[in-house]
Amino acid sequence: MPRRKKKGKKTERKLELSDREKYFLSAFMDIVENMYGPTARKVLEYIVESNGVVAEETLGKEIGIKSNEARKILQKLADEAILGYKTGKIGDKTYHLWILNLDQIEGILINRLKKTREKLQLRLNYEKENTFLLCPVCGRRYGLDEAFDYEFTCPYDGGQLIEFDNSDIVMFLEEKIKEIDEELSKLGAL
Ligand SMILES: [Zn+2]
Repeated sequence: MPRRKKKGKKTERKLELSDREKYFLSAFMDIVENMYGPTARKVLEYIVESNGVVAEETLGKEIGIKSNEARKILQKLADEAILGYKTGKIGDKTYHLWILNLDQIEGILINRLKKTREKLQLRLNYEKENTFLLCPVCGRRYGLDEAFDYEFTCPYDGGQLIEFDNSDIVMFLEEKIKEIDEELSKLGAL
């Protein structure tokens, strides 16, 4: 028999998460916060606390945000396949329920990391395979071909282009890729 809900007190059963799922979720919360802001994180955290299901009609009130804002966030999370959707009836009232796709999160997370890694790798190759020059006046950076075309003079301010050492950028990108690889290997996806 389901437990009765006491008035004003939360007694819902918590989602039972394995350590692996907890790890995914917490990494995922960070991504959601980066992409959609702290309110989206709050919504997702609330969904997890609510056993993975929330009603659109009451969510805003329950976490203290406007209902249209709550709906927008739910929609965005659904676009990412984080949430699924169904309607349910309680009495004669229809509720729109949003359900956490816990089993999707691992795949979404790994895909996102891999895509980011790909982008960083392309950027790293570009940095490694090219020579750059810098205008000391405006700080614009030019590729070697471009610099030739401009006869090593900045077309904006006539500054004489100087060699640009991109080893800091290369190091930064390599570091980022290493971080992602560590993350992927923790997830068993490398
Ligand atoms: Zn310049």
